[in-house]
Amino acid sequence: MTTIAFIGLGNMGGPMAANLVAAGHDVRVYDLSDTAIATLVKQGATGTKSPREAAENTEVVISMLPAGQHVAGLYLGSDGNAGLLDTISADCLVLDCSTIDVDTVRRVQKKATERGQQFLDAPVSGGVAAAQAGTLTFMCGGEEAGFERAEPILSAMGKNIFHAGGHGAGQVAKMCNNMLLAIHMIGTSEALKMGANSGLDPSILSEIMLKSSGRNWSLELYNPYPGVMDSPASRGYQPGFMVDLMTKDLGLAIENAKKTNSKIPLGEHAESLYREKQSAGDGKKDFSSILEILEPA
Ligand code: NAD
Repeated sequence: MTTIAFIGLGNMGGPMAANLVAAGHDVRVYDLSDTAIATLVKQGATGTKSPREAAENTEVVISMLPAGQHVAGLYLGSDGNAGLLDTISADCLVLDCSTIDVDTVRRVQKKATERGQQFLDAPVSGGVAAAQAGTLTFMCGGEEAGFERAEPILSAMGKNIFHAGGHGAGQVAKMCNNMLLAIHMIGTSEALKMGANSGLDPSILSEIMLKSSGRNWSLELYNPYPGVMDSPASRGYQPGFMVDLMTKDLGLAIENAKKTNSKIPLGEHAESLYREKQSAGDGKKDFSSILEILEPA
């Protein structure tokens, strides 16, 4: 059993923390929302009133927060308040599972290293269903020793745990994956929509493409055309994985492409289409709702 502080109990963090409790760990939780804390307390976690209280005398700190500024604020401090890295002990392992920019990872990692703490970026793929089922994929960036310490903890929340490389490599793997996901979701939507507009049954067209070279994850497991399978498209595009989050991830990919001099013409185009969808007021819909922008004006 390990004593773990878990900060950020939202759609993803809530079920992840619950799985750590179920695996027998002593989990101390904190979120800005009292309701989120209360839900976890009912599941066997210990509620706390601040990140500092949650992390006191713990062996591991895990965070699952919306974006880079929240992660920087938590660990490095903000508005003259000390960050968590200043208060936790040198032998504490810090795992940030949020999807954030590489610069923030490097800033937090630098300070953690100065304080003698091991820090890993450990973003996830799989969404809320996988967070609940404990089948997430973790993509970790950091030193081997930290990864070896993290693996048994992460395995209570995930099925596939990868060491992508040094600090920030987890975030780069995550943004590469999600950029590819956006591109094949849009491509799949275009193919299905053109087929349907030409009189084909989208279910039959899907079956044909699944046995042909157009086969891909979006088509097979997350079909964007309503009524083809039990996917968000068949439930009015309820998320799932929101347009807002996909737009954020594509923004991170574009930022990284600029810094690394990488050409990503399709990634850039995908980002502009997702921003268009977000601007139409559909940010909270599932990302497969991108098919809707293909309706004639
Ligand atoms: P969410 O908005 O549901 O949850 C975020 C939680 O953090 C909220 O409960 C909020 O109250 C809390 N929070 C915000 N600032 C805080 C602070 N300073 N201290 C303590 N708590 C704070 O978001 P989510 O869907 O759980 O996503 C979390 C992260 O996981 C994001 O970086 C997202 O990109 C990534 N992610 C999400 C999914 C998904 O399908 N939802 C999939 C993969 C990765």
